[in-house]
Amino acid sequence: MKLKNFNKLISFGGADTVTGSCHLLKGERLNLLVDAGLFQGGDVKVHKNNLSFDPKVIDGVFLTHAHLDHSGLLPLLAKKGFSGPIFCTQATRDIAEVILLDSASLLQKKSDDPLYRTQDVQRVMNLIEVVDFEKEESFKGVNFKFHHAGHIPGAASVSLDEVIFSGDLGRRDDILLKRPSPSGDHKVAIIESTYGAHHHRLAQGDLQELKGLVERIIKTQGTLLIGAFSVARSQMMLSLLNRLMNEFPELEIPIAMDSPMALKVNGLYQKHKTLLKEEVDFSRVVEIKHTWDESTRQKKSHNQANILISSSGMVSGGKILTHLEELAPYKENILFLPGFLSEGTLGRKLSERPEHFLLESREIELHCDVVQGLQYSSHADQNELIDWLKLATRSEALVLVGHGDKEEKEEFLKSIQKEVTKNAALLEFGVEIDLGC
Ligand SMILES: [Zn+2]
Repeated sequence: MKLKNFNKLISFGGADTVTGSCHLLKGERLNLLVDAGLFQGGDVKVHKNNLSFDPKVIDGVFLTHAHLDHSGLLPLLAKKGFSGPIFCTQATRDIAEVILLDSASLLQKKSDDPLYRTQDVQRVMNLIEVVDFEKEESFKGVNFKFHHAGHIPGAASVSLDEVIFSGDLGRRDDILLKRPSPSGDHKVAIIESTYGAHHHRLAQGDLQELKGLVERIIKTQGTLLIGAFSVARSQMMLSLLNRLMNEFPELEIPIAMDSPMALKVNGLYQKHKTLLKEEVDFSRVVEIKHTWDESTRQKKSHNQANILISSSGMVSGGKILTHLEELAPYKENILFLPGFLSEGTLGRKLSERPEHFLLESREIELHCDVVQGLQYSSHADQNELIDWLKLATRSEALVLVGHGDKEEKEEFLKSIQKEVTKNAALLEFGVEIDLGC
């Protein structure tokens, strides 16, 4: 197999883990980077967020989507001298701006010598060149195309000549986003495997679980606190609640959203509504303007059933912590966590129902119910990933698997070898793979 412009691939993230996606595609004439994500999570070694390559040798960057674990190191790249173009879709550009500004502000708060600052984010924004979905373009002799990937608005898989990077792939039945649409007979595919060993059992739009929770909260007159990420998960939960309340008007109760980033992203959902299957109706959302005090707590937890969507989704920070502190000690409330909970996060710990938990060294009693929902993932499962590969590659293609925990990746590799191609391998951090043999 000989490729037109490239002969090597090295992954500096999104290889062994689901975080810090960063792939360097090397050729004789040029070097391209696909994603430059920030490493996140408690066990992350700080050195992983220092670039393992010289940004000045990169000719261009292709950004699959705005999530921090794919975009979060772009400002560092710009700070360290990268000045080439960064190609992405318009919605990715808009959401990345919100996410990166928030990231810079957090980094500045945490350290006097942060990884990057707000002005580095501005520098990145000036380098971005927006491209349309499904339009053949070229850069320095490389043909490229962004394909719909579902997942979050703007998310794309990227073809670079005969190589395709899946990026994060969404689900076939996502209630808001179009299904992933790869095409072509690529010779090499780099694919994510977050849920590579997993089969989603319930459709994302199944309302049964949510209906049960709202019915319960109406009975107890408490607060249903939903922990959801600001980008995509919050808007998805609101859409599902809209569907529920339209179908069952007797379940109509106030919905508040308390996450400054989610409120900004709501505006971008309106701006980019053509990317959605249906427009999101934000009219039910009441904004929280107060801070908690005894009287609001009494009202919130005893007088009127209500729903509060707040971030972060894994309860690892953000406004949800304040609400949790107020609501957790009362049995009439429910904490609902609709998504995957990483090891080591407070969300994971709460899902195991301890009697107490610590919040900034204060001991809080846990009497509210804690429910984890698993059907709301925005990642494709094993069948969907395999189908994507079949559509995106030719039969003898080389398939490289990354962006997954060890067991998911290994299990997924076996199923690729059985159903798609024997020519498949796992990506490893920093290990150069020869594409030109
Ligand atoms: Zn993502």
